[in-house]
Amino acid sequence: MKSTLQIQDISAAPGTKAAGFLNVPTTTAQMPITIVNGVDDGQTLLITAGVHGGEYPCIEAAIRFAAELNPAEVSGAIIVMPIVSLNSFHARQAFLVPEDGKNLNRVFPGKATGTISERMAYAITSLVAPHVQAWVDMHGGDIPEALVPFSGYIESPDPKVNEGSRGLAAAFGIKYLLRPDHLPGTSNSAAAAMGIPALLAEAGQLGILDEDSVQILLRGCYNVGRHLGILPGNFTPVALIEFKSNPWVRAGQNGCWYPSVKLGDTVQAGQKVGEIKDYFGNLLAEYHAPCAGLVILLCAALAVNGNDPLVGIGEF
Ligand SMILES: [Zn+2]
Repeated sequence: MKSTLQIQDISAAPGTKAAGFLNVPTTTAQMPITIVNGVDDGQTLLITAGVHGGEYPCIEAAIRFAAELNPAEVSGAIIVMPIVSLNSFHARQAFLVPEDGKNLNRVFPGKATGTISERMAYAITSLVAPHVQAWVDMHGGDIPEALVPFSGYIESPDPKVNEGSRGLAAAFGIKYLLRPDHLPGTSNSAAAAMGIPALLAEAGQLGILDEDSVQILLRGCYNVGRHLGILPGNFTPVALIEFKSNPWVRAGQNGCWYPSVKLGDTVQAGQKVGEIKDYFGNLLAEYHAPCAGLVILLCAALAVNGNDPLVGIGEF
């Protein structure tokens, strides 16, 4: 017998949809959340977006997905959290939560007693994630970042979880796949530790709400729902192209950034990818590709700070 799915005071009986706000315990932070509870039994899928508040296509795709879903067509349940970091969204703040200056996707699984980012992450891992059997966390290039769509997952010690994550990637439909061994603090690594198959799905860039990226992400949500048997309909899994590694070339200092490659370029190992100059036009440093590969991420801002990602390369 199908039961009601309740998270805090948001309660969805079988065959209904409920929307409200998840209150982050001991803070004033709230996260919009929609619970779509189907009539029939099945798995529960979590879709998160807006962990970084300036990544608009994923936020819009999640908003539309939650609004469009019809509980009568759902077997199992789908939980959608379209803007996890509402404060960074309204502050138009790239990467960081304004109150504590932390990158929310580096503090998972979070802590009950910590800074606000840590408490936000913990609200998801303690109150929402225990209900789910699959988790797709959608991102994109943040406000200063150009990005080629890619997906990724973090290796879990459990091969079954990895198989599940890989299945989510193929179903979601973005062909380029990154598989970092270890990226502590991400939602994906928290999910892997909890034994939940999980996917990072990235599309969109530069603070632009572009429809093509929204469609890539929205289609991905539907296809994952179909793959898990939660939603009706067919889909064709994509043939994944897996990068050997994905080094990020980072700024060694503050200054003005002048890339010499374009997004989507193929680069050779050792090829110059750009330079940093000072505020008087003097060269401070040149940057080079550590390996051959595809430029999948590019800092599009003139202003850079030490340790900012300048160029992301998917190694062939
Ligand atoms: Zn992000």
